[in-house]
Order: sequence, then C-alpha cells, then structure tokens
Amino acid sequence: MASHIVGYPRMGPKRELKFALESFWDGKSSAEDLQKVSADLRSSIWKQMADAGIKYIPSNTFSYYDQVLDTTAMLGAVPPRYGWNGGEIGFDTYFSMARGNASVPAMEMTKWFDTNYHFIVPELGPDMKFSYASHKAVNEYKEAKTLGVDTVPVLVGPVSYLLLSKPAKGVEKSFSLLSLLGNILPFYKEVVAELKAAGASSIQFDEPTLVMDLDSHQLQAFTHAYSELESSLFGLNVLVETYFADVPVEAYKTLTALKGVTGFGFDLVRGSKTLDLIKGGFPLGKYLFAGVVDGRNIWANDLAASLSTLQALEGIVGKDKLVVSSSCSLLHTAVDLVNETKLDKEIKSWLAFAAQKVVEVNALAKALAGYKDEVPLPHFVLVYLSLRDVLPAFFSENAAAQASRKSSPRVTNEAVQKAAAALKGSDHRRATNVSARLDAQQKKLNLPILPTTTIGSFPQTMDLRRVRREYKAKKISEEDYIKAIKEEIFKVVKLQEELDIDVLVHGEPERNDMVEYFGEQLSGFAFTVNGWVQSYGSRCVKPPIIYGDVSRPKAMTVFWSSMAQSMTARPMKGMLTGPVTILNWSFVRNDQPRSETCYQIALAIKDEVEDLEKAGINVIQIDEAALREGLPLRKSEQAFYLEWAVHSFRITNCGVQDTTQVHTHMCYSHFNDIIHSIIDMDADVITIENSRSDEKLLSVFREGVKYGAGIGPGVYDIHSPRIPSAEEIADRINKMLAVLETNILWVNPDCGLKTRKYPEVKPALSNMVAAAKLLRTQL
Ligand code: GLN
Ligand code: ZN
Repeated sequence: MASHIVGYPRMGPKRELKFALESFWDGKSSAEDLQKVSADLRSSIWKQMADAGIKYIPSNTFSYYDQVLDTTAMLGAVPPRYGWNGGEIGFDTYFSMARGNASVPAMEMTKWFDTNYHFIVPELGPDMKFSYASHKAVNEYKEAKTLGVDTVPVLVGPVSYLLLSKPAKGVEKSFSLLSLLGNILPFYKEVVAELKAAGASSIQFDEPTLVMDLDSHQLQAFTHAYSELESSLFGLNVLVETYFADVPVEAYKTLTALKGVTGFGFDLVRGSKTLDLIKGGFPLGKYLFAGVVDGRNIWANDLAASLSTLQALEGIVGKDKLVVSSSCSLLHTAVDLVNETKLDKEIKSWLAFAAQKVVEVNALAKALAGYKDEVPLPHFVLVYLSLRDVLPAFFSENAAAQASRKSSPRVTNEAVQKAAAALKGSDHRRATNVSARLDAQQKKLNLPILPTTTIGSFPQTMDLRRVRREYKAKKISEEDYIKAIKEEIFKVVKLQEELDIDVLVHGEPERNDMVEYFGEQLSGFAFTVNGWVQSYGSRCVKPPIIYGDVSRPKAMTVFWSSMAQSMTARPMKGMLTGPVTILNWSFVRNDQPRSETCYQIALAIKDEVEDLEKAGINVIQIDEAALREGLPLRKSEQAFYLEWAVHSFRITNCGVQDTTQVHTHMCYSHFNDIIHSIIDMDADVITIENSRSDEKLLSVFREGVKYGAGIGPGVYDIHSPRIPSAEEIADRINKMLAVLETNILWVNPDCGLKTRKYPEVKPALSNMVAAAKLLRTQL
C-alpha cells in the first residue's frame, strides 16, 4: 500500500526561510546564503519523508515566494514592465515581480482559494511571449536524486494556471485566458521531457480549480490540455491532484476521463461528496490518491475512522490501486509539533502538524498493507489484527488521544452548548430599524455631517512591543504595565483631540493581534509558540487553536475602553473582534460544525458588548475583517455560510439600546457580490477598505444598491507610507458623495494604522480632517 504527500511547508520548523529571505532582501546576506538555507530545508524535508516511508515524495513544492509565481517564471511570463531580457530568470526579476522594486510595484497578490495563503496573480495577454525560463522543477528533482530520494515533481497544472491568471492591463475584456493554452503547453512538454531524461518516473499536476464551479468550456480545456500532453507523458505515472472541496459531478467525469493520466487525487476531508462520486464509478486500472489526512488543520487524524474509509475505497478501486495521501499540500498547516514545548500535554496529544501528518499517512498505508496480507476473517477481527500487528503503539495511542478529546472536560461546557443550541432557528435582530436608530444615536452623539474616525489601532512603536513582551515574560509588574499602556492611550486620545477627530479610538496598544488578544482571554483556545503558517512571501501567521467550547470568564476590554473614555468628552469607540473573524483566523475544531463554534464565540462577544454598553461606551466597533474570507468556494454553499456568519454577527449586538451605535469594519474590496449580506448584518455604521482597491467598492452603489446605514469607505490606503493630500482625500469623498447620501457618509482611513509610523499618521489624519471640514462648508 503506497503513501503520498501532496506538498510540504517551506518555511522550516522555526521559519528559517523567512529569516533567510528577509536578510537577503535587506542586503545583509548573499544569494548563496539564501540558497544554502533553502537547500538545507529541502533536503531535511525529503529525508524526513523518506525515513517515514512515504513512497511518493513531492519535489518543487519548495518556493522562494510562491508556486504560482514559480510557474510564471517557468513559462517566462514576465510582464514587460519588469524589463526582463530573456534567459533563466534570476532572483532580481523574480523578487521584483513578487515585491516590486524601486521603480515598479509588485504584481497583484490574491488569496489561494479559501486559504490564507496568497499567490502572485499571473498577468497574461495575447502578446505574451512564453519561454522555458526557469528550470527549478528539474533542478529540484535532480537535487533530491543526488540525495538518494526519488521524488514526484509537482507542477501547477496548465489549466489551473490559466484560470488563476488575469488579463494584462489594456487587454480587452473579451480576451480569453484559456486561448493561451496552446502557447504554454509546449513549455510544459519541455519540462516533462527534461524530467524524464533526469530519471523521473512520476509527475503531479495540481489542478485545484477543478473543485470550482466551472462551465463546460473550461472543463473542455482540461480534456484538451491532457490529450495534448498525452504523448509527452507516456511512460510516467501521472497524478492530477485536486483539493479544498469535492469535485462537482461534471468535473469528476472530465477529470477521470483525462488521457495520459494514471492517478487522481481527492480531498476526502473537505470533499464531503467525493466518496459517493468514487462509489458511483472510478476508472479501471487507475490510481486513487485518497486525501484522508487533513492538510489544513492541526488535529491528529482519527486513524481508525480513516482506516475504515480507506478499506471501503479499497473495495472499489482495488487493493493495489489505492494510495494514502494528505487532503492537500501541508503548506496550510503548522510545521512540527516537536517544537511546542509549552503546550499543555493533553491538548498536544490531540494535535498533528505537518511532520506528524507525514507519519500518519505512512502509518495508515502500513496498516492497510498489513490488513491486505491477512487471511479473510470477520471484519472486526481483521481490524483488530491489523492494528495489533502494524504499528500497535501508534494506533493505540492515537485511539486514546481521540477518546480523551471526546470526553475531556476541557472540551465540553454544557452551559455553552445549551446556550448555542438555543440560538439556532431563531432570529436575532435589533428591534428598531436602522434609520430610526441612527436618529436616536445622533441625538445622543451630536456629530457633524461627514464625521471623522479611525479604524482602531495607532502605530505600534518598538517601545510598546517591548512593554507587552516584558509584561508577558513577567519582567515588569502589572502596575508598571498598566501605567505604560495608560500613558500610550492618553497620548493617542490627546492626539486625536488635537487633530479634531469626532469619534475616537484608544489605539489598541495592549493588543498584539486582533484575534490572539481575544483568544487569550476566552476559554477553549490554545496557543502555539511555533505554529506558523505561510500567508504570503516571507509572512506567516500563527493562528490560535480553538479546541473546546468557547466562553468568556470575564470582561476583556472594558477596563481599557472605559479608561480611554474617561480621558475625553468625545465618544470613544469600544473595539472588538467579531466572531466570524475570530473563527476564520483560527485553527477550528473539527468535531462540530464551524457554525456551532461561531455561535459560541458570538455569545461571548455579546456579553462583552453589553458590558461595554453598561460601562458607558456608546459606540462599539465589532471588526469582521475576515467575513468574506470564509466564503465557500462553491456558489451552492455560500448562502448557508453567509446566513450563519451574518446571524452570528447580529447575535453580538442584538441586545443593545437604540442609542448605542454599532460599527463594523471590513478590509477587503471584493464586497459587491455579498452586499446584501453586509446590509443584513444590520450594523449602524460600516467602515471598509476602498482606496487601496481603486474604489471598486463604489461601483455597487453606482449600480443602484440602496444603503441606508452609515458607511465609511476608506479615504486613503494605510498600506503605503505615502501621505495623501487634503485635496486628494476631498476628491475621493466627492466621488463617494456622488453615489451615497451625505448624511450616511463617514470619513476614515482604509484600515487600522498599526503598521504605520507617527510621522506618516499625523499629517495624513490632519489632511483627512481638513478634507472633511472643507466639504462640510460646501454641502
Ligand atoms: N481594529 C483593527 C485595527 O485597527 C482592525 C484591523 C483590521 O481590520 N485588519 O487594527
Ligand atoms: Zn481593516
């Protein structure tokens, strides 16, 4: 029984690649230094998989930045503005595309399906001259071979590559990216030929777009591409890998009929219907790569459950045609549990990071193989025998951990379960409609038209970070910590008063991260030291782990918010992270539906909202930065998600008085397709990113969507150190006034200011207030 891993994290167990990249970018180390760190990481990963007994070990899943950008490099698809003159693409051109250089900005980056990984979007037009410009796949194959490991080179498949691209600027809308298929396939053939010549016996094409809603024209492109590649692929084991969802029926038919392909990979964790599809028919003689070990979460696999799934599949595709695999690349999970020395022992026994998942995949394959060789006995006896004979300790420890997770009192909180269950089926809305509420609030708050505000955080200085760190490490007393944070809040409050901002924030100096801050104070959350996951380039995030029922032992923000309010006569916004964002930016438990966990968090945040209100905070912002991120890939599943996500948000604030103003904030621009859900959140005011994304947001209002609540489309991009002028900001506001009523419009930046510096923030905000004041005189 064979085993396979779809892909592996490249950052290293302690983010070695991140530090090597950043030091190289800063000019502190050489290209050779970077290459050396990278080669060491690759070799240790290959050896680790080989030692674990994995049969199909991937190569070319390492990347200096991103695998889609690597494909762009392989095809020589460099946009002309980077001034590349042909030849093998080097670091200069590669990193210029990824990060920009002194004269040219970076290419666009976007989310990789519904993960938090971001890829560099290829820009293609009819004039693009492709060439074979990066031999990375072949080089890595050879490198592994020299180390004695025969790997499966992984390529982003040609059709997915095109479907993930965007038309270059100036290319007319009617241009079909798929029309370039014939132009890129010759280079894929060239790569395949070189891999064969180097001794490769297998190849993997990642075609995850097959899980999306594709039309028949798009599906035909797969048929066409693989027929075209068939003769080049002859003699190789060819795997087409899908992941992140099940494959729709039509796509399944197309996929399993592809010429020249000998194996198909499926995500059996997220692909809830894949099993039925396979039962409904799987091509004779082909390999099934069964992704039973979750590549997107950190839970130990339920080996006994996987084993029975695999046994069922074995019955369909044949014993020697089943390959045990990960559900997707392990890129999306943390790297190695071994480095988590501070985690609670029981919780740790429930977890598996990438390194442990490799062992799980192999153990399952071994267990199945053992099972295969045994004489036919009644089913339960067979399972018992195979468990006893193969890796007994591993399986029994796993079973014990699964059992402990099911019964552990730290997971279950009856009261929370009950309260969350009671929410379902009923609606939660504020009793008064939004325009009447806005009137009531205005009476209390007495704000000018075009009120100004900011999104929450102010610059996080080195000193501030040091204070937090030292407090956490117990190097400074609570008293000193409170004093330091209080001083910072005071500074931020006075600055906003000087700037004459209308609705103030406390600046969030006590927060390291908008999810971690709340997770640390809620029950049911655990934190890792090294559980990093690549987000983009060298950037990684460390999601909290939600392992149990969520509850709020005590108020989380009231102390700081009321302290801040006491420093000013102006309204001070209470600042919370919403349930959907906490959920989407955490590793979520897999033993209950996401919606259930979300409702539990919503109840905890609801308590906080009500405590803030009691403490005299009249404006409360509940950030839902990540609401859109959780949107399922397939249209058929989106309505359900939006329903419970929006419901969860409403639960947090359905209990406040009309005079309490609820704000929410979102930082994505692709908002137009879910505008009705956003309206349904029923917030009094929404502040939203707008400037960074070329004001695309406004088009939805131009198209006539009625929006009656308060809205603050960002008037400047906080990602850039550039200081916008008052005229430029006034210009932007005027564009908004053209499509939105004056009395609902707010003036604010795109997002929080935490990554900026005071010399940028002060003049930018001062210009923002000046612009608002100027326009007030003209209205
Ligand atoms: N209140 C948060 C801040 O200002 C919001 C951050 C975000 O939207 N990503 O930092
Ligand atoms: Zn934001």
